[in-house]
Amino acid sequence: MTHAQPSEAQEQRAAARARMVAEIAAMARDTGAETGRPRFGDAVMAAMGKVPRHRFVPALEDIFAYDNRPLPIGEGQTISQPYIVALMTDLLDPKSADTVLEVGTGSGYQAAVLAELVAKVTTIEIVEPLARRARQVLGELGYRNVEVRVGDGYGGWPAAAPFDAIIVTAAPAAVPQPLIDQLKPGGRMVIPVGGPSDVQQLLLVEKQLDGRTTTRRTLPVRFVPLTGDRGRKQ
Ligand code: SAM
Repeated sequence: MTHAQPSEAQEQRAAARARMVAEIAAMARDTGAETGRPRFGDAVMAAMGKVPRHRFVPALEDIFAYDNRPLPIGEGQTISQPYIVALMTDLLDPKSADTVLEVGTGSGYQAAVLAELVAKVTTIEIVEPLARRARQVLGELGYRNVEVRVGDGYGGWPAAAPFDAIIVTAAPAAVPQPLIDQLKPGGRMVIPVGGPSDVQQLLLVEKQLDGRTTTRRTLPVRFVPLTGDRGRKQ
């Protein structure tokens, strides 16, 4: 059997991804005292080293795809900084049998990273053209365990609930109660909270077996606001 040799372009992208992963590891060390995660799990870092971020950014941004920073994806939205994607993924403690809800599909990149680690990802996007594009790219890359839905993620996705983990990648003014309700006992939610002009906080919300929640602040962050009728209300 013959194996196709990787092209020069593929090798360059693999090298750029490896550099990005090294930068993520360095940032994790630098922020470890605040986040409680000075070293991200091997499986999370392997997923960051595998998912082709260049497929999730517009052609004009291709050369920046492996820079450790957010990039525009159209419709006034962004693909998050790779370090933040890795941090949020690591905070979720993803397990291979988990079902995960993402609110804010955007490009679909975060969903792809999660899809490398868990059994099923349901992701909701309020901007229809972004959802369509993300669904197409995820399909082309063979991610069969991701379902992209169009809608207001404030209300979660009751039909697929409860979830082992929930990740929110746009900032509401407060943690949406429907998302807490759709988290399994023992489940974890990672969510930025705060107004667009405030310093937002990246929160880790854990639901105890008795249904009560504990919340821990990790880092100050800057996300686009959660839109829709309910996201901005306190
Ligand atoms: N996770 C994305 C990725 O990997 O590219 C980045 C998400 S981007 C920072 C935030 C996304 O949340 C935007 O695409 C925005 O349209 C979406 N969004 C904002 N409010 C929403 C809502 N109420 N329900 C669902 N999606 C929402």
